[in-house]
Amino acid sequence: MSPPTGGFPGETGGSLEEIVATLREFLKGSPLPSVSEVAQRKADPFRILVSTMISLRTKDEVTATASERLLARAPTAQALLRLESKEIAELIYPAGFYNTKAKNLKAMAEALVSLYGGRVPEAMEQLLALPGVGRKTANLVRNLGYDLEGICVDTHVHRISNRLGWVQTKTPEQTESALETVLPRKYWIPINELLVRFGQTLCTPLSPFCSRCPIRTLCPRIGVERSR
Ligand code: SF4
Repeated sequence: MSPPTGGFPGETGGSLEEIVATLREFLKGSPLPSVSEVAQRKADPFRILVSTMISLRTKDEVTATASERLLARAPTAQALLRLESKEIAELIYPAGFYNTKAKNLKAMAEALVSLYGGRVPEAMEQLLALPGVGRKTANLVRNLGYDLEGICVDTHVHRISNRLGWVQTKTPEQTESALETVLPRKYWIPINELLVRFGQTLCTPLSPFCSRCPIRTLCPRIGVERSR
């Protein structure tokens, strides 16, 4: 049996477009990632920042309800700052690492109020300087809150980009830089939502469902040792 055609855009000239188009069709109607759902209700950078911070190492269903509980009590940085860390922890429970996240959320609100009058900044350096905010969170706030370009690389985007052979990287940060050179700019914002949904349903971490994958003939399955 001949190996599947590689998905690297430089080699196949257009397979990346085909992959994205196929995945878009395949994922039509599937649930949105929790942070996109929060953004869809209201694309407010503060809401996106809060829910992304809650989402780290937390299941989507938990993130969605925890975010809405907290945002109902604290819709602004000023209101969040008025809550005690203990109250924040109770509101976001059972999100993963809820005590640490509560402290980070409070410290983040304090920084927003003291430095920016409560407004969420849009510059990458200013976002990264906020407590508890890494590149993934900063990019998602810029993408969904301000419609600014940037590739938000989380664990799904990192894993699937490597399996497809778009990049050969060890960390999400390396993947972000590498994708900037191979991914057409029109995909920089939507790629996160697309690959998160795909990664949650078919191209899962340990044993992906390759036998029913709509792009299996375009995927070199790099690094996949076990599949279903
Ligand atoms: S599910 Fe398998 S075939 Fe499909 S993209 Fe992932 S690794 Fe490739």
